[in-house]
Amino acid sequence: MCIVGGGFTGLWTALALAEREPSLKIAIVEADVCGGGASGRNGGFAMTFWHHFIGLEQVCGAAEALSLARASADAVREIGSFCVAHGIEAEYRRDGWLWTATNAAQLGAWERTIAAIERHGEAPFSELEPDAVALRSGSPAHLAGVFEPTCATVQPALLARGMLRVARERGVSVFEHSPMVSLQRSTPPIVRTPGGRLHAGCVVFAINAWAAQLRELHRAFVTVSSDIVITEPVPDELERIGWRDGVGISDSRLMVHYYRTTRDGRVAFGKGGGRLAYGARIDASFEGPSASASQLTARLRATYPALAATPIAASWSGPIDRSFDGLPFFTELGRRDLICGAGYSGNGVGPSVLGGRILASMALGLDDELAHCGLVRRAPSGIPPEPLCHLGGRLVRGAVARRERAQDAGRRPAPIDNRLARLAPAGLVPLD
Ligand SMILES: Cc1cc2nc3c(=O)[nH]c(=O)nc-3n(C[C@H](O)[C@H](O)[C@H](O)COP(=O)(O)OP(=O)(O)OC[C@H]3O[C@@H](n4cnc5c(N)ncnc54)[C@H](O)[C@@H]3O)c2cc1C
Repeated sequence: MCIVGGGFTGLWTALALAEREPSLKIAIVEADVCGGGASGRNGGFAMTFWHHFIGLEQVCGAAEALSLARASADAVREIGSFCVAHGIEAEYRRDGWLWTATNAAQLGAWERTIAAIERHGEAPFSELEPDAVALRSGSPAHLAGVFEPTCATVQPALLARGMLRVARERGVSVFEHSPMVSLQRSTPPIVRTPGGRLHAGCVVFAINAWAAQLRELHRAFVTVSSDIVITEPVPDELERIGWRDGVGISDSRLMVHYYRTTRDGRVAFGKGGGRLAYGARIDASFEGPSASASQLTARLRATYPALAATPIAASWSGPIDRSFDGLPFFTELGRRDLICGAGYSGNGVGPSVLGGRILASMALGLDDELAHCGLVRRAPSGIPPEPLCHLGGRLVRGAVARRERAQDAGRRPAPIDNRLARLAPAGLVPLD
């Protein structure tokens, strides 16, 4: 088996394959170092599928949506037990997730989702009083919210490097700094890197937003940046405002703000829905310090005035594979020995555990539930071709930004901005 891409998806796939077929020869080729893509530089929120339940039900039907959402909650717990079992110090903290409103327009953004889940007798979220939300998050900027206790936070790069070690211990051959430069669609398929070539029974593409370079996936998702700033350690200040644990916090805007503390008392503050890539090109603007660092810093300080003087230690950026419904897909590329999993839309840390298992089932040609689940059956599509995607995307993003600014200021957004914003891919709040 050849796995292209050594992030969470590629590593969980390798581990699942090695567990099921210990004698299998498994190789990972990674362009950078394992974890050098989104997996090592994300916000570290290990979330479930519950907040995407409406979309999941539309794609998979109620029974399967429930079993996938439950499995995604198990996956978050499994990350913790995996770290314990293998001595991986990835700062795993299962302190839950607060889904909040930071302006009046966001109030109740979670209600439709919770009602849809409750119709099936599940209650993964607890309702909190507004005071409790402000207290738990350390800021009165949070006007209301609900709490999902299953979620965790991790230091993602430490998790990725720990997974790499375990994969190697299980016999997986890992080639870092070895980009796939071409794919020969022969039988068997051949993956070429600058230093060699691999003949594989099956090639699994676990290359996140880079998957848009595969001809079958040009229209499967749009690539947008997500950006993060991180402060210097301020544990005493965090203690003073009452933000004491590893809870993850998000607001309810489409271009979501997400933030959490680290074990050493820093705040990592991020925002989704940043720069839009043209076609499949992930250029230098997705690497290095974030171009949005000053806006993010201003938002962090507006949310936490107590941290107004806290210096920012670093900022960075990375690519997000944003599918139209916010859900990942696992798909064959026209033949069963070429498969790909991507489209996590900024929620891959927890779900990639499941993604790895789905891809392993597909690669082994198993006839199990995962290999036939709705995330496999669906055809990834819905994104217009270039240049329409880029032009339309910029128009819609502009409208979303104006709408969210108006809502922050307590103004009614312009009707045209409301209409255009409805064309955006789904975020935390489901599409109408
Ligand atoms: C700034 C940021 C914040 C985020 N925050 C969160 C969060 O808090 N919670 C959450 O759940 N998700 C978050 N995400 C998304 C999450 O990081 C991803 O969904 C997840 O890491 C996807 O894992 P992956 O293995 O599919 O992709 P990646 O980790 O990106 O791995 C793909 C790998 O493929 C490699 N590659 C590409 N092309 C080739 C090639 N030709 N040959 C060989 N290798 C290749 C890349 O170098 C990369 O290492 C965030 C993402 C970013 C960028």
